[in-house]
Amino acid sequence: MRLSDHDPGDTLKIKSKEAALHELGELVLKIAELQATLFAEERRSLLVVLQAMDAAGKDGVINAVFDGINPQGVRVTGFSIPTSHELAHDYLWRVNAACPARGEIGVFNRSHYEDVLVVRVRELVPAKQWKARYGHIRDFEQRLTDEGTTIVKIFLHMSKDKQRERFQDRVDDPAKQWKFRHADLHDRKLWDPFHAAYQDAINETAAKHAPWYIVPADRNWVRNLTVARIVHATLKSMDPQFPAPEDGLEGLIIE
Ligand code: ADP
Repeated sequence: MRLSDHDPGDTLKIKSKEAALHELGELVLKIAELQATLFAEERRSLLVVLQAMDAAGKDGVINAVFDGINPQGVRVTGFSIPTSHELAHDYLWRVNAACPARGEIGVFNRSHYEDVLVVRVRELVPAKQWKARYGHIRDFEQRLTDEGTTIVKIFLHMSKDKQRERFQDRVDDPAKQWKFRHADLHDRKLWDPFHAAYQDAINETAAKHAPWYIVPADRNWVRNLTVARIVHATLKSMDPQFPAPEDGLEGLIIE
């Protein structure tokens, strides 16, 4: 897989923005229904891993796709710069603790992949150390799958020019200025090394049981609808079922 073969501006043959919003509205309801059943079933879980460059819209996707879902059944975890406590452990320690419990949907806003992305690009550990992590990550995701978690991994693929536009918008709009940090420009300067790291990480860890999806993210409506389609199709294929009722409910009259 080469990222340069994927167009961040692709509309995936979706007819119009209106059509996308309409379908998204329908899918959000269906996702909420499936999640309610998964929650009641309490046997399996879904993990959605979201990775992207700054301003690709991870927060926007979470807002749009998990709107209307029972908050008890979904757990969103953001992975930021590790604290000193987290750094005192191995890199998967904080990730393990955030994995969804049975019945839950877990959403990772950034994830263990940062440990082969930013860590590699910024040379935070020696190459030998981060290279060994591909194997750990494959084993970790295999273990989660074997124990009842379905995993999907999503890369929101945005063009460099669209990031410029969105950063400029953040700088100019007082309601968005809080989102902008000068440090964001450092990562932008490292655009190519980051993309090389993403491409390697995706190629090294894409598996049938833990697939990567490359979602075009230059248009918000294409991005949100595509992620909703992925989440919906995955939940549907899991086919959650309500648990069997206790014996003796038939004809029971509550006094
Ligand atoms: P976001 O940018 O996703 O809205 P934050 O503002 O909290 O969230 O920024 C997260 C920052 O933490 C990013 O720059 C990311 O590269 C960094 N980060 C995440 N995980 C790690 C890690 N394991 N090691 C170093 N930096 C990390």
